[in-house]
Amino acid sequence: MDTPTAPKAGAMLHLRGNTLSEGDPVALPLTQSSMYHLPGDWSGGPSYGRADNATWEHLEHVLAYLEDAPVLAYPSGMAAISASLFACVKAGARILIPSDGYYVTRRLSERFLAQLGVEVDQRPSASFAEGGFAGYDVVFAETPSNPGLDLCDLRAVSQEVHAAGGILIVDNTTMTPLGQRPLELGADVVVASDTKAPGGHSDVLMGHLATRNPDILQAAREWRQFGGGIPGPQEAWLAHRGLETLELRFDRMCNTAELLAERLAAHPKVGSVRYPGLPQDPAHALAKRQMARFGFLISLTLDSAEQADAFINGCPLLRAATSFGGVHSSAERRARWGDDVAPGFVRLSVGTEPVEELWSAIAASLDALDS
Ligand SMILES: *Cc1c(COP(=O)(O)O)cnc(C)c1O
Repeated sequence: MDTPTAPKAGAMLHLRGNTLSEGDPVALPLTQSSMYHLPGDWSGGPSYGRADNATWEHLEHVLAYLEDAPVLAYPSGMAAISASLFACVKAGARILIPSDGYYVTRRLSERFLAQLGVEVDQRPSASFAEGGFAGYDVVFAETPSNPGLDLCDLRAVSQEVHAAGGILIVDNTTMTPLGQRPLELGADVVVASDTKAPGGHSDVLMGHLATRNPDILQAAREWRQFGGGIPGPQEAWLAHRGLETLELRFDRMCNTAELLAERLAAHPKVGSVRYPGLPQDPAHALAKRQMARFGFLISLTLDSAEQADAFINGCPLLRAATSFGGVHSSAERRARWGDDVAPGFVRLSVGTEPVEELWSAIAASLDALDS
């Protein structure tokens, strides 16, 4: 079994602290400056706020520790995803993306890569490797996919993509580096939205890219600096603060999700449940092999859109909102955004509420649905 071990969250909390001198602030200072004092010739230090910022660098330092690879921070998950694609793709390239992954990645590829002469193909995550990867310059995978929670085998995919001469990019948003380590499984690049569990309080957008490939790292850095889409220092500070409690929150959220998934699957009002941690889930065997945790997202299907809305809106411990990974449990009916799912399909993001209090509220809302 090659389940990767989670990095040491305790050492992460002291990464910066162990470099301090007497009198330095223990909390991360916020460097809110576009200009740096630069007398005489430039000697390679911070030059201008679009290229350098000490607050991002600390955020990147912590993320790099978690990923065990160099990291660049971006102002959103999509900014990191676009950096990864534009760093790796050339005119005339063929790329493969999931048909059931985060929909904005598809829209970005179809709207902007296609017009640069890039051929964009799509496949469902559950059968991602079927058909092989010959002829693909870049393969972009997402596992578990958002919102359907299908998995693809990252080790097998990376081997085949590399044998065919391609590059594998993995969107690891749904798992975070504590739950799954795609670089260890062979991916060339990891991208993620830190707007979700890493930020954790639904108050900041942020993203990052991690890679051990120096050429891709350099291109992604230049894409940020020349393209101009940089993280704001205040947002980087908030994301860094969120990371300090990620391990605590993620552990609680995954533990709660494991219990809730079992109980939801046994509830008479719930049609079907997808959660990689359920022994009966079609992806369970693969999940045990490649994920360190089973995550905090559960999908459940109720009889109709009306039942799904009544369930969500009738539960005082569920925020009806898009996005996920916050301390507040949230849920939404994904068909409202045109995802290819049943009308009563609900994506549930388990937060940090005490498990029995949360289950009581969820069960009461389900019990109240008309049969
Ligand atoms: C939310 C999300 C993104 C986009 O992240 P933003 O921070 O909203 O730009 C990308 N991929 C996945 C899987 C997501 O859930």
